[in-house]
Amino acid sequence: MIRLSGLKLPLDHAPEAMAPAICARLGLEADELRGHSLVRRGNDARRRSAIQLVYTMDVDVTDEASVLARFAQDHDVRPTPDTGYRFVTHAPDGWRGRRPVVIGAGPCGLFAGLVLAQMGFRPIILDRGKVVRERTKDTWGLWRRAELNPDSNVQFGEGGAGTFSDGKLYCRVKDPRFLGRKVLEEFVAAGAPEDILWEAHPHIGTFRLVSMVEAMRRQIEALGGEYRWQTRVDDLVLERSGDGARRLRGLVLQDGSVLETGQAILAIGHSARPTFAMLHRQGVEMQAKPFSIGVRIEHPQGWIDRARYGNCAGHPDLGAAAYSLAHHCGNGRTVYSFCMCPGGRVVAATSEEGRVVTNGMSQYSRAEFNANSGLVVGIEPERDYPEGPLAGIDFQRHWESLAFVAGGSSYWAPGQTVGDFLADRPSRALGSVEPSYKPGVTPTDLSQCLPPFVIEAFREALPVFGRQIANYDHPDAVMTGVETRTSSPLRITRGRDFQSINVTGLYPAGEGAGYAGGILSAAIDGIKVAEAVGQAIVSG
Ligand SMILES: Cc1cc2nc3c(=O)[nH]c(=O)nc-3n(C[C@H](O)[C@H](O)[C@H](O)COP(=O)(O)OP(=O)(O)OC[C@H]3O[C@@H](n4cnc5c(N)ncnc54)[C@H](O)[C@@H]3O)c2cc1C
Repeated sequence: MIRLSGLKLPLDHAPEAMAPAICARLGLEADELRGHSLVRRGNDARRRSAIQLVYTMDVDVTDEASVLARFAQDHDVRPTPDTGYRFVTHAPDGWRGRRPVVIGAGPCGLFAGLVLAQMGFRPIILDRGKVVRERTKDTWGLWRRAELNPDSNVQFGEGGAGTFSDGKLYCRVKDPRFLGRKVLEEFVAAGAPEDILWEAHPHIGTFRLVSMVEAMRRQIEALGGEYRWQTRVDDLVLERSGDGARRLRGLVLQDGSVLETGQAILAIGHSARPTFAMLHRQGVEMQAKPFSIGVRIEHPQGWIDRARYGNCAGHPDLGAAAYSLAHHCGNGRTVYSFCMCPGGRVVAATSEEGRVVTNGMSQYSRAEFNANSGLVVGIEPERDYPEGPLAGIDFQRHWESLAFVAGGSSYWAPGQTVGDFLADRPSRALGSVEPSYKPGVTPTDLSQCLPPFVIEAFREALPVFGRQIANYDHPDAVMTGVETRTSSPLRITRGRDFQSINVTGLYPAGEGAGYAGGILSAAIDGIKVAEAVGQAIVSG
């Protein structure tokens, strides 16, 4: 097969237009084309008056070699790659060795658990939170009644941080083994919509994510895996070998019991603050790392659709428009849009009492009234929190606590209209754009709960973004804060064998350990680390 990329056809093209377009592109007669199948579909909306759909197709031709030779210099015409997943090892038949443990049932832990189970290693998966349907009730408890459960919320529980989300499934990590394809195929097998396999910017939406993680749990349990909910790892049992190296011997659980194991995958996410403190206390090597801080900004989705798609706004093949913005400011900071959620809502994403945190989510339909996105500024340890590996957590907590107070100390979030913000005056009321954050938004002054350099950078960037997307800086657009958990504030150092560089048997993985940013890259990292654990067990 030949993989043909970058094939453009007009919006509303007839399905029958595909074959002639392929023939024209490859200089083929109609009878030289035996078949074609869809690999990817995106759109090119740079010219709003002539929006095009952009396809990648697998093409079956009568004389593949001559076509490939004719297009040898053309990067859009290549042999179709083999994207099949191959297990790197398997447990010996009847294997009954000491079971590996996965700490955390987010995307990273879920895929680490799945691949370990598929390889026959019967993993034990621990999570401090609850099973997804119970967790959903607790999360709604915060959103509807301002009641926070610190162990069961948007950050903690089955499915991890990504469950209440837009479920965007794309990432920028290099993926020469097409592990991302394995993730998408497993998601489809678990009930995700098929279009995630070919949409350029696939997304799943929250309600579908819930039933999918349940289906994957059933698969892991059927393969001999085991889940333990409301089981927080509170400490490590380590032993020192003759050469002074430290090795994992077990995990101390919240009930004080010890779970013996020689291999544990640390897939604990970016909000596992007490666990980071414990690991630091135990001398597990880690460093502070850059992340970003800011707010969520909301506009009516219709404004964004019109700005991006003009008269084609609302077209079924285009869906709710997304955007990606960035601006380098005079104060040396960069403002950029983060985790944009078309047709979604802003959610209360805190996991700690007395702190307010925002994030965003959408349903698969992306049909809610507002568009929202993180609007954030990059920060780094040396410049903003140089005090040590855990200093980024202190930095987050500081602004989250101020946001809690500015919102009225009730998990309501502080909000401000763009008009008031740019005029440097507190909001007394909100305008025509109704904020979606629940339990509620308190009109106030966001400069009370964000660093001055962020405020300064926003004041410079918003008018710039308003010239790129009409009405982006509309006075009634509304900002809700604070967005502090954009990625992990630290990295737990690991070697080429995916083990902690100073504790053998401990495998830092996923977003929390600083090796992923987003659902797909966390899942991919989970697969890689599971493979390393499997190989370590087999090689003994
Ligand atoms: C509201 C929201 C929306 C998002 N939207 C998207 C999106 O659309 N697309 C996207 O790609 N990314 C999105 N993200 C980011 C994405 O969710 C994360 O990047 C991803 O979930 C990271 O996966 P992970 O498995 O590494 O960690 P997590 O998903 O954070 O999972 C970590 C798990 O570890 C458990 N845990 C922590 N400490 C312990 C302990 N001591 N003992 C036992 N268990 C423990 C937690 O309970 C949690 O379930 C969103 C995040 C949020 C919060």
